[in-house]
Amino acid sequence: MRISTEIISVHLKWPFTTAQDRTVASQSAVIRIEHDGVVGMGEAKVSADACGGQAEPVGEYAGRAQAMLGKDPFRIEQILADLRRGLPGACCTRAGIDIALHDLCGKLLGVPLYRLFALNPDNTPLTSYTIGIDTPAAMLTKLQEARGYPILKLKVGVAGDTERVKVIRDRTPAVLRVDANGGWKNAAEAIERINQLEAYDVELVEQPIPPGNYDGLRTIRRHTRVPIFADEDARTSEDLSALAGCVDGINVKLMECGGLREAIRMVHIAHGLGMQVMLGCMVETSLSLTAAAHLSPLVEHADLDSHLLLRDDPFEGLKVRQGRIILPSGAGLGVHETDQT
Ligand code: MG
Repeated sequence: MRISTEIISVHLKWPFTTAQDRTVASQSAVIRIEHDGVVGMGEAKVSADACGGQAEPVGEYAGRAQAMLGKDPFRIEQILADLRRGLPGACCTRAGIDIALHDLCGKLLGVPLYRLFALNPDNTPLTSYTIGIDTPAAMLTKLQEARGYPILKLKVGVAGDTERVKVIRDRTPAVLRVDANGGWKNAAEAIERINQLEAYDVELVEQPIPPGNYDGLRTIRRHTRVPIFADEDARTSEDLSALAGCVDGINVKLMECGGLREAIRMVHIAHGLGMQVMLGCMVETSLSLTAAAHLSPLVEHADLDSHLLLRDDPFEGLKVRQGRIILPSGAGLGVHETDQT
């Protein structure tokens, strides 16, 4: 197998603001793995936030991964185990290689990924459409763009949360979920905010307080009625046993956990521990979003919307109709390059 990488930049239609940062553009590495004339494609976000440190030098990491790929693309588990040992911490690069190997195997077998995963493509969940933190006027403009999406995810975690959620609730009957990205400083503040937000019929609250405070999450859950989901606290399967009893669910992201196989492991462990699962994303293109979408029949909730927020997505794969995720039926990921580049 031969691996190559290409760095691409994508741009958001609107600046996207959360309690932690503001994004206008994003870089990804497209990873291609060739075997017997067939090419599998994956995406690795070039991001400092995915791994909680510096942006990964994906090209350099992929070069080092070449020696660990071997000759058989179907030995994905062994290849990933070698990568975990040889490239520790390289979660985005590993995710991109994991996605490319799955795309390659699906193409070699001539079947879409959801069939490789033994899943029913009719059972995909609805995805939410995310509205970042903004002025009430700008949020209302974004609400116009979000028409047709039955679930909205509102970013909160800064001053004025309740007022912003009220502005949206007054104008839409959509299901509203909120994501504080750890922006409320402690359990007491989170409990106060969540109990205020309950008046606006909020479906769930994501990562109310900074990660690492399990007692805080447990306290919040005891004193509020809205389901609590962990995101920044739930990066890999190793994080999950500590979260059992502290939250109602977790948000799984390919770029944080290291790819599709680890994501599947997280889904099953979370379900075994009595937690629901949301499949989420960072600012990514349709390439890695389609990979996550192929797993979506396994989970209760989806937040696979960042391709909808891009103005120059170079790929085409999953579709979203009235919020429902539609999986492509082509072999592997079923993703094609568009003319954007
Ligand atoms: Mg989140």
